Amino acid sequence: MSAMIVPLMRDKEIDKTINFTSLLKSMKILVATEKPFAKEAVDGIREIAEGAGHTVALLEKYTDKAQLLEAVADADALIIRSDKVTPEVIDAAKELKIVVRAGAGYDNVDLAAASARGIVVMNTPGQNSNAVAELALGMMIYMARNRFTPGTGSELQGKTLAIHAYGNVGRLVGVKGKALGMNVIAFDPFITDAAVFERDGVRKVDSVAELYASADYLSLHIPATAETKKSIGYDLAMSMPKGAAIVNTARKEVIDEEGLMRAMTEREDLKYVTDIAPEAAEAFAEKFGKRFFATPKKQGAETGEANVNAGLAAARQIVDYFATGNERFRVNK
Ligand code: NAD
Repeated sequence: MSAMIVPLMRDKEIDKTINFTSLLKSMKILVATEKPFAKEAVDGIREIAEGAGHTVALLEKYTDKAQLLEAVADADALIIRSDKVTPEVIDAAKELKIVVRAGAGYDNVDLAAASARGIVVMNTPGQNSNAVAELALGMMIYMARNRFTPGTGSELQGKTLAIHAYGNVGRLVGVKGKALGMNVIAFDPFITDAAVFERDGVRKVDSVAELYASADYLSLHIPATAETKKSIGYDLAMSMPKGAAIVNTARKEVIDEEGLMRAMTEREDLKYVTDIAPEAAEAFAEKFGKRFFATPKKQGAETGEANVNAGLAAARQIVDYFATGNERFRVNK
């Protein structure tokens, strides 16, 4: 097939065609999960992969790195959760062409080692967004109702929900906040299409300063980057309206903990609620009592539905990659 097509192609396309043709054979997809997927997800992964003519091998609850090194030896594709894909794993996986992290974060994969071998690394963004968004709203209600202790609480309806970063999670928090009757505003400098906000009935604001100054509930959804790390601290917290709460289901690294503590010390009305315990969690709990809450273990994405969604998306992305070369969710170069 390629012999007929190749002469008509430009150089780049020739590479793709050869790749694509060689990938039409049956591939071995290894699902390696120290903490296994639900059975429903594994069954779905099998159905998707085998339906496309590939085979699936399962390595669950492995306790020793050596087990993973052995299992990846002849795998063409790898589906993982929080499992670590180190240079050693990459080295042992002589046939590996693609790794998909079923989930959003992919700092458990050594991207440089994968790239050096030409291995594609993908994540499955958006699959756990609903779970995280529901937790964010749940944490707001929890704080509004005095952590479900006796006494008079408040309602979310009519309050201003300010969304910092309008990506997959932020957008869902916005839509759900609107459904609760909140006044929703958002800031995301990388979304230039106003229609993204307009169709959700969300008002786009033009600065972080305006966002925080208006927020009764500030819902954080920025990624941890060089620019955002420690970017939320004293000044922004101090600018918030009376009784405001920062709700963090993003990453602890984006908080300047010292600055936030200083603001919460000076302002006895400010609250901080987070799905990612701060480095100084004990000090926060001690100093601020009921104005601070951290989930005991990160649980934004921990729903059965999110796990199944992510597993199935990983299988679909691998099948699609082998069939068409689609690299839409690739995270390495
Ligand atoms: P996403 O990639 O869909 O959206 C991120 C958004 O952030 C994008 O719209 C981008 O334009 C915006 N952004 C980037 N830099 C920004 C900046 N400096 N200022 C303002 N906006 C900026 O990501 P997502 O799926 O919505 O996830 C958001 C965050 O939630 C991530 O940090 C992720 O790690 C975290 N997360 C947490 C859990 C959990 O269990 N708590 C689960 C999934 C994701």
